[in-house]
Amino acid sequence: MQIKKQLAQLTPYQPGKPIEEVKREFNLKTVVKLASNENPFGYSESAKIALQSEILQMPLYPDGSSQSLRTKLAKHLGVNEMKIIFGNGADEVIQILSRSMLDSNSNTVMANPTFSQYKHNAVIEGAEVREINLLENGCHDLDLMLDAIDQQTKIVWVCSPNNPTGSYEPEQKLMRFLDQVPKHVLVVLDEAYYEYVTAEDYTETTPLLNRYPNLMILRTFSKAYGLAALRVGYGIASEQLIQAIEPARQPFNINRLAQAAALGALDDQVFIKDCVRKNREGLQQYYDFCSTHGLKYYPTQTNFILIDFNRDADELFAALLRQGYIVRSGKALGFPTSLRISVGTKEQNEGFLNTLIRML
Ligand SMILES: *Cc1c(COP(=O)(O)O)cnc(C)c1O
Repeated sequence: MQIKKQLAQLTPYQPGKPIEEVKREFNLKTVVKLASNENPFGYSESAKIALQSEILQMPLYPDGSSQSLRTKLAKHLGVNEMKIIFGNGADEVIQILSRSMLDSNSNTVMANPTFSQYKHNAVIEGAEVREINLLENGCHDLDLMLDAIDQQTKIVWVCSPNNPTGSYEPEQKLMRFLDQVPKHVLVVLDEAYYEYVTAEDYTETTPLLNRYPNLMILRTFSKAYGLAALRVGYGIASEQLIQAIEPARQPFNINRLAQAAALGALDDQVFIKDCVRKNREGLQQYYDFCSTHGLKYYPTQTNFILIDFNRDADELFAALLRQGYIVRSGKALGFPTSLRISVGTKEQNEGFLNTLIRML
């Protein structure tokens, strides 16, 4: 047997440690997970009700085109419903795009550090990966990314806000970039944290789709909508592009419970507004902590914050784990002395920060 040789250089995705495992390992009663940017406020009641009424339908395959969800989401976004492709998480849309466009004769351009799955999928497809270091402020170096593009470039990935820095690309910079990217290159704008953004100069990108046929926007129900377990993400792009990549999508990739819950969740925008407000308040707890203790961090438009503690991130991570807090060590994310911390509830943030103060 022969496995593609590029797989030998990859390891499976390392998720944040599960709460149950940490409880057992360290004999703890309560463990708080601030590692995967999940919504600490749960998910909307309207999604719960929708889930319950779907429960009897399990013997039936889901609607392969997610039609009801498609119609409602398209209306919510103000785009034509043919401009949407659904994925089993935005992760699957990244996989579909990579599978559809990348091969060993092509290259793909992305920031470094950024969300790991762009590179992971590109490597599997055998494409050359061109990584351009982030600027000092945690933003993409869009000029150098433009310079890295050539005739063999198929996809440029822009993660805004970026994971793990939380930085975003302001409107003017982004527009100038989009104007200069050659038409043969797809720009994937990953907006997984779109709902959390409050910056005034963050671009509303869906109206740009008419102007840039080589643009795809990625969003997800995993973060602000609190439905990470159900795996629903989507891409928005020109009808032509969506049609071209649809054959690479699995026929029933969005399961029934996921479709029902996402449909219900869209009805409750008050829940989202409320979460965004509480998230900003939670972030302020971290900002205040950082300024009190003289710690550097990136101002963030997301529900996580990357803080530089000036010490070995893996050791700090391990010490926090023993105290019942699961965070993300920056080591594997390209920031060896930082932690990426998801914003929790007010009480979780307080407990976590007090624990940190005792330890530091
Ligand atoms: C969480 C995340 C995703 C993936 O989200 P899913 O829809 O759960 O697959 C994509 N991009 C970024 C930047 C993320 O942080």
